Amino acid sequence: MRELERSRREFVGADQGWSEAGVNSATTPQVSIPLARPILGEAEEQAVIEVLRSGVLSLGPRLAAFEQAFAEQVHAPLASAVSSGTAGLHLALRAVGLEQGDEVVTSPFSFVASANAVLYEGARPVFADIDPITLNLDPQAAAAAVTERTRALLPVHIFGYPADMPAFEGLAQRQQLAIVEDACEALGATHADGTPVGGRGHPAVFGFYANKQLTTGEGGMIALADPLLKERIDSERNQGRAPDMGWLDHDRLGFNYRLSDIACALGLVQLERLPGMLSDRAAVASLYRQALAGIEGLELPCSDRGGDVRGWFVFVVQLPRGVDRDGVVHRLAASSIQSKPYLPAIHLMSFYRERFGHREGQFPVCEDVAARSLALPFFPSMTEGEVARVAAVLSDAL
Ligand SMILES: *Cc1c(COP(=O)(O)O)cnc(C)c1O
Repeated sequence: MRELERSRREFVGADQGWSEAGVNSATTPQVSIPLARPILGEAEEQAVIEVLRSGVLSLGPRLAAFEQAFAEQVHAPLASAVSSGTAGLHLALRAVGLEQGDEVVTSPFSFVASANAVLYEGARPVFADIDPITLNLDPQAAAAAVTERTRALLPVHIFGYPADMPAFEGLAQRQQLAIVEDACEALGATHADGTPVGGRGHPAVFGFYANKQLTTGEGGMIALADPLLKERIDSERNQGRAPDMGWLDHDRLGFNYRLSDIACALGLVQLERLPGMLSDRAAVASLYRQALAGIEGLELPCSDRGGDVRGWFVFVVQLPRGVDRDGVVHRLAASSIQSKPYLPAIHLMSFYRERFGHREGQFPVCEDVAARSLALPFFPSMTEGEVARVAAVLSDAL
């Protein structure tokens, strides 16, 4: 049976309308269905209280414990905790040697952070189109985008569906490129060969914002295999301090990307909850599939194929072509159901257009998907009745 009853009882988290958290919940708190809602209970409260009472709020014992437990979860030899997924992408790209003027081939159909992290280092995100089924970076398009300036590949496991890593690993080997994986949406996903996403050896970055599969409020983790890379990341997240140096000695440029012990304590409890939360998410996805099956022209997230297994993060549908998406969002909102166009194409965002001269038509698959995709409410404690309500209003709106 699903963990639903327990989840409901333990739920203390507020609705998560993602970055616009709780926008609708103030007006109709009882019946609104949020986009996301974390599972937080007494165990989390207790863990946080213990850290507070210990007086060691950062760089304490929970940091290494959370890193080790997380590494085991994704079958990675090592892991480094950081203050966000974005910070993790930044440090992972630095660790693989990204320098000013380099190019990184990546997906335009992602959360903007994956491309922004490349810009932090004065490097250039070079986009390539996506696969129309999995919505992940298309390996052939990526290969065609490689130039002599390309330093790394940055595939994104979008919506928790595993990117085609064997293909990217082949490309990286042929062209001598580094790989950093944006696994911020993919905790719990598995590749066809049985490797969990994050366990293939190259740095893979996870995020722990409150809508993700596991949350520490804010936070992130880099799973990796190379101890030298971990040493650099651990130093750079902590102001460039070497582990054996005094507090005010710094032998390289660093940042403050530390994850507090309060957050690590939350993460440890959430890891224990993870199997239940993941299977609840998968169960809600099945309910959606059944409830939405009859709506003509509506495209659902692709089923697992070829042995790859999705780690469910969001439930994003693609509306039939020609449908007024904003109108659908408003219809859902009128029934207190949150939804969100997700994701917009990065290359068409004004900042990227102006900086790089991007224009419509460059990545047609991405643009078509981005114009039609809509994230529906999706969280582990979502009930069959709530799914049915979303489906009914959506069906009506279409
Ligand atoms: C959430 C997310 C990030 C960034 O994570 P933060 O913890 O919010 O910085 C990066 N990439 C993708 C694809 C994400 O979904």
